[in-house]
Parts: sequence; C-alpha cells; structure tokens
Amino acid sequence: MKEIVEPLLRWYQENKRILPWRLDKDPYHVWISEIMLQQTRIEAVKEYYKRFMERIPTIQDLSEIEEEELLKLWEGLGYYSRARNLKKAAVRIVQEYHGIFPSKYEDILTLPGIGEYTAGAISSICFQKKEVAVDGNVMRVYTRVTNQDIDVTDNKKKKEVGDAIRKILPDTPGDFNEGIMELGETICLPNATPKCDICPLSSLCKAYLHHREKEIPRKIVKKEKKTEDLTVFLIVCQHKIALNKRSTGLLKNLWEFPNAPHLLSSKEALNWLGEGISVIRIQKGISNTHIFTHKKWNMQSYLVEIDFPLENYVWVSLEDIQKNYALPTAFKPFLESLIEEFKKSN
Ligand code: SF4
Repeated sequence: MKEIVEPLLRWYQENKRILPWRLDKDPYHVWISEIMLQQTRIEAVKEYYKRFMERIPTIQDLSEIEEEELLKLWEGLGYYSRARNLKKAAVRIVQEYHGIFPSKYEDILTLPGIGEYTAGAISSICFQKKEVAVDGNVMRVYTRVTNQDIDVTDNKKKKEVGDAIRKILPDTPGDFNEGIMELGETICLPNATPKCDICPLSSLCKAYLHHREKEIPRKIVKKEKKTEDLTVFLIVCQHKIALNKRSTGLLKNLWEFPNAPHLLSSKEALNWLGEGISVIRIQKGISNTHIFTHKKWNMQSYLVEIDFPLENYVWVSLEDIQKNYALPTAFKPFLESLIEEFKKSN
C-alpha cells in the first residue's frame, strides 16, 4: 500500500475538482460539506452549500439560527437530524471553544453528529493531523488495490482498513484522504465500472492485475425494506391548506399534510376526518412511494375541500408553504399536485 502514496498524491494535485468547500481549508466549510455529502451527490450539494453559506456564514450564525429556518434550508436533503445536530454542535463550539472549531481529533469526535469519518476528514484536511477518513469510496479502492474480498459494510473491517491506511499516511494526510476519496468517486467506480485504463494506481493494483476489479468489493444482498402504507389528506378550506407539525419519529418537528396509517377507502377516509365536518368534495389524488434508509412509505392521497377550518391544524396558503415551511421530500409530490390543482381552478 505504501507505494500508492506518491502516484495518488501526484494524480490528486493534477486532477482534483474545484469545489466551493475546497477553496480554503476552513473547518466550518469542510464540516458542512461533509455532512451534506453523506446523503447527496456532489453536484446537488453545491447548490445547497451555496444557499447555506449565504444565510449561515459562520459557526456563531449557525448556533443562533431558528430551527424552523434551518430545516427549511435543509429541505430536500433529508436526514433532518443531521441539520439539528449541526446546530447543537455549533452551540457547543460557541460555548466551549469561543466559536473556534476545535483542532483535536478527540474533541471534534465529541461534537453531536460527528463520527469517526467526519472527525478524520476535518482533522486531516484542515489541521493536517494524521487521521484517516474511511468511507465507502476508500473501502472500495483499498479492497481492490489489495485484492481483498472482504465485506466493506463490516465496521470491524472498516477499522482494520483504517489502521492499515494510518500506517502509510504522508505528511499531507488531508491530500491523501481527499485523493483516495476522489479516486473512488471519479475513477475507481462502484460495480463493474472502474476506469482502470486511466487509473494512476493500475500498475500497483492487485485486483486489476488478477482481473478481479469487477468482482471486488463483494456485493452485499440488502435486506428488504419494511413497507408502511399511508393515506395523505390534502385538506383545502377557503384557499388555505391544512398542515400538521410532526411530534415524533424521524421527521419530528417538520411540517406535513395530515395523514393516517393504511390505504383508506373514500368511506374510511371520511370516517377518519370525523363527524360534523362539512365536506364539499373528496376525490382520490396522486400516489407516491418514498424510500428512506430502512423503510418505504407507500402513500396515496385524497383531495378534500371543506367549508370551515378545523382547529387542530395550521392553515397556510400555498405560497407560504413554499416559502416558509419545511416539508419532508416524501410529501413534496403532494404539494406539486396541489399547485396543479390550484392552477386548474383559477
Ligand atoms: S486499477 Fe482499477 S480497480 Fe484498481 S484502483 Fe485503479 S480503478 Fe480501481
């Protein structure tokens, strides 16, 4: 493995992509980008990152922002607990480190939402600490270069790979970590698509030399996701729409359209709405399937028009929802369908 260091660093210097968070080595910039990149492709992150930095340019600003506004900025990225953890970590940095990002790996690791990978990335890139940052890209490159058929999702193996990489880290550990990740993202691609013919490591790569680059890493059969059925109610009253704030679960504190478990028939839907409501019309709306990390929502909707607003909901105009309310991605197609519905009736 030691032999890969020089060619990798050379390749990285000549080929690294110009990314907004790489323009400086500011830990705040690297931190925010790393958290965003955990769930979204680089191209999509660029726009979110730009918007985030324009509104929240410093750790102090992040520590002070209202959660509602933060979630709105995060809207579409999913995994909202990550946004909440950013704010919690910023508050700690302000309180315990006078607003200056800590430079010790051990201190970084204690911040909410920061695991070994992110702590390693920040401390090596921004503070030149010899720490490793092992993500899926690094595991793929490592297992191919060493021709090891191991389970790349196994945390024990990940730690072993981290220990092996730590031994070969050069005096520019940040460049090495970014270089190996970049190689995984752009050249040593997953599945059967590595671009070995243009790879700077091809003469050293054991999987390539043994024609095994397409077999490694071993494919892991994913468990079937649990499916939950949901009926979504798009309730309209005097040009306002009913919203509900989630009080529990993974989308806690985000806004949603009222919804009920199971796929309800129109009769069951009317029952769910309750007695005493004067329904002007109810019609079946669009359906949507949303896939989370561990489960799947199978959603259908009803468009319901009523003539008097119910007290248990917040009533908001379409424009206001779009501007000020963070709706999870799962509910976005229903918002789009409402926009279409309003256009038709105007
Ligand atoms: S030679 Fe191929 S398999 Fe080996 S590191 Fe390069 S791209 Fe990956």
